Amino acid sequence: MGRGKNKSSFGRLILLVAVVIGFIYIYSSEMFEREVPKITMENNGYWNFKTPLEVFIDDASGLKSYKIFIRDSSGETTLYNEQFLDTKKSVFVKVGTPKNSYSMRDKEVTIIIEAIDNSKWNFLNGNHVRVEYKLLIDKKKPQLSIVSHSYKIKKGGAALVIFQANDDNLKDIFIQTNYGKKFKPQPFYKDGYYISLVAWPITESTFRANIIAKDYAGNLSKNNIPLYLKDKKYRLSNIKLSDSFLDGKIAELAEEFEETQGITDKIEQFKIINEDVRAKNEKLIHDITSKVDDKMISDFKINKMYPLKNAAIVAYFGDFRKYSYKGKHISESYHLGLDMASNAMAKIKPQNTGDVVFSDYNGIYGNMPIIYHGLGLYTLYGHCSSMNVNNGDSILANANIANTGKSGYAMGDHLHFGVLIQGIEVRPAEWMDKTWIKLNINNIIKNAKEIIDRG
Ligand SMILES: [Zn+2]
Repeated sequence: MGRGKNKSSFGRLILLVAVVIGFIYIYSSEMFEREVPKITMENNGYWNFKTPLEVFIDDASGLKSYKIFIRDSSGETTLYNEQFLDTKKSVFVKVGTPKNSYSMRDKEVTIIIEAIDNSKWNFLNGNHVRVEYKLLIDKKKPQLSIVSHSYKIKKGGAALVIFQANDDNLKDIFIQTNYGKKFKPQPFYKDGYYISLVAWPITESTFRANIIAKDYAGNLSKNNIPLYLKDKKYRLSNIKLSDSFLDGKIAELAEEFEETQGITDKIEQFKIINEDVRAKNEKLIHDITSKVDDKMISDFKINKMYPLKNAAIVAYFGDFRKYSYKGKHISESYHLGLDMASNAMAKIKPQNTGDVVFSDYNGIYGNMPIIYHGLGLYTLYGHCSSMNVNNGDSILANANIANTGKSGYAMGDHLHFGVLIQGIEVRPAEWMDKTWIKLNINNIIKNAKEIIDRG
């Protein structure tokens, strides 16, 4: 009897162990996994009913089925209902325009996504998940119209545009050019209006600019700025490098620059200075002058620029310089400013107010203050012997900001005068011309204000 009792309790123990093992097996087995399918839908809370909503569902044990519904004030509509017979780990669905979207007046809809996996968990029913996304509906493109603009743009030069952009959910406005540069417009005068200078770089054979407005729902409007393009031929200079120049100024600079340390060949030194050091110095200039403020401006006034009194022009903007030594081509570069000279250490006095955004030594540009005049417009003064302003200073018109010199890569005492628009060098000649300023700045602003005021 005792043996029998032992036998049956042993049997019960075996059974218990088996059940526990069974539970452990079920609990830890892939077949019985308890993780619900993962649902993701890329969205920012807006939908224009056009850009497909990208839904991604995946599960470790595979998906059995999924459903996608849309709910608006008229009720719930099934958009997708799919069952899988074979094991499918993941599914990617592009939810396109719903059939009734044209007549749909709702400002908000809900996308509901349900999925069930292949797990045996939940009494063989699988793990079930349901996710809801509320989306604000915006089917309207931003309203975009040009109010006033310069009639033409010259290669290497600038133009001004004023436009209106309106949208309830406006996300981004910029001016896209054919050469990759995006100009950032600044709010102007009254709500919904914007102003921007644009520039046609000397290195680009043509110019094209489109104003682009995007809203959060992905609606996009595009308007071309209809500028008449005026080509301009710039000078090509063939410059023969002399030994006295290489042994003098270049040797002196080579000693100073980090890039030319350990380089003894004078041609190599010149090449590094004219290419690598120049690129580094110009990158700094472009970085500093790319900024535009985003506060609203009600006006923009600029005086004719002529920073050096009684100066002679000694080199033009846009010269393409090819350097050779003993008949062999060595290097080339663009001259991106206007060189002006009068007496040595002459006073530099910009005719415009502005903020000093840089006042330091910058390699081949030597001592170099940069002044910001607003609207993305900057002026730069290179090769100075001394600087009388500090970064952060506000200057008045005709302030003696610096004195001419030959610091950096300069042979004689002169001023390298640069004008930049959002990081692009433009022809100083335009900003030194009263008529050009009147036609391209003053008249455009005056005209735009009249149109805006008329409403
Ligand atoms: Zn220069």
